[in-house]
Amino acid sequence: MGMLASAGAEITPRAEDADVIVVNTCSFIESAQQESVNAILEMAQHKQSGRAQKLVVAGCLVERFRGDIQKDIPEVDAVVGTGELDGILSAAGLTLPQPPISAGPFTILNSRPEGARREQTGRFARDEWQGAVGDLPNYLYDENTPRVLATPSYTAYIKIAEGCDHPCTFCIIPQLRGKFRSRRFESVIAEAERLARRGVKEITLIGQDTTCYGEDLGLKDGLALLLERLAHIEELRWVRFLYAYPNKITGRLLEAIAANPKVCSYMDVPLQHSSSSVLKRMKRGAGADIFLRSIKTMRRAVAELTLRTSFIVGFPGESEDDFEQLCDFVREAQFDWLGVFGYSDQEGAASAHISERDKVPPAEIERRRKKLMRIQQTISRRKKKALIGRQFDLLVEGPSEETPLLWEGRTAMHAPEIDGKVFVNDFGDREALVPGEFVRCEISESHDYDLVARIV
Ligand code: SF4
Repeated sequence: MGMLASAGAEITPRAEDADVIVVNTCSFIESAQQESVNAILEMAQHKQSGRAQKLVVAGCLVERFRGDIQKDIPEVDAVVGTGELDGILSAAGLTLPQPPISAGPFTILNSRPEGARREQTGRFARDEWQGAVGDLPNYLYDENTPRVLATPSYTAYIKIAEGCDHPCTFCIIPQLRGKFRSRRFESVIAEAERLARRGVKEITLIGQDTTCYGEDLGLKDGLALLLERLAHIEELRWVRFLYAYPNKITGRLLEAIAANPKVCSYMDVPLQHSSSSVLKRMKRGAGADIFLRSIKTMRRAVAELTLRTSFIVGFPGESEDDFEQLCDFVREAQFDWLGVFGYSDQEGAASAHISERDKVPPAEIERRRKKLMRIQQTISRRKKKALIGRQFDLLVEGPSEETPLLWEGRTAMHAPEIDGKVFVNDFGDREALVPGEFVRCEISESHDYDLVARIV
């Protein structure tokens, strides 16, 4: 969006007003592919009967089905993969302004030794994918890449790294996004400073794997160093990161969270499972005992830690016993937030080749998903109830989407978009609240996942 705007395009969220429609797609799992295709077909109608002159498809679906998209959907004029963001301008019929805008360094020289090793074992190969042509992406944006915030003005995501070198057998992200590579340290800081000057108060660091940040640059504990520097940016109030890889959480990282009040005491560590035999087949390793020990270490190091995780149920070969072990683990670990995904085969993922005999039937996968969510619902209800009467800083987000009688906000325990909400039903002696401001609130009511608060 930033590059289009810099080249003179006016950005609109309304497809019916657009001359050029860009559909940014996902290809992580089949349901995401289907949703992406539906969006393309829906947008194609604007070209047939509306104002739109061009339809551009961007993102991960292009990495997976590049050759097929234009062939099968003739309304599509151009495709732009995850490694060729500069191509968006010519795809939209625009030219670079003079002097040329920086669209980021396109050639990445650094990589982790693991990446090179995994490449030799075929981790990034796309030979199985008909329709996927083109090179493995190596794009990374930098602080000079033009950017338009798609989030509310007070919060922003910063991508600190791209790609992934891990061998998880259910995942095709490495083939879609390429080898792990980090943005330069000073580039991330410069971008954060610029965002903070523009009014951003909360920064969420993302990447397919944030905890490897800097390894390819020769940095030790790169994420910890980054958090510490970001915590010194005066205008920022909250900094957090998502998607930590479990065995990459170091004492130094925990120290950086614990010692810097601006770094939210919040960790998102997708564990995927707790049965060691399932984790072994997922090529992730570890198991319930190791995880429980590291959760204990995390909670000891970071006071009042909010812990989020996610699991996959129904991975091929997951027995009833494996699943029950996972249920026991969830009861014991007492996560604050938890997501559960039902396994689905992905062409190109090693787990798709596990014998059909070992596949868990879809109805059983759904039963397990629901059961695990019910266990967590009870945990969440109890944890939320324990917060009644306590006070927190609240980032005001605006009137509630659910009812005009309430406003909504988040505490440091709530990452943007993924966690529950705090509804405000009592402004105290305030006449009005302003989206993006921080206020003090007291929790007055709790539900399964959401909270109700009054301003104090
Ligand atoms: S660490 Fe995450 S992105 Fe990387 S292969 Fe595993 S599941 Fe996929």
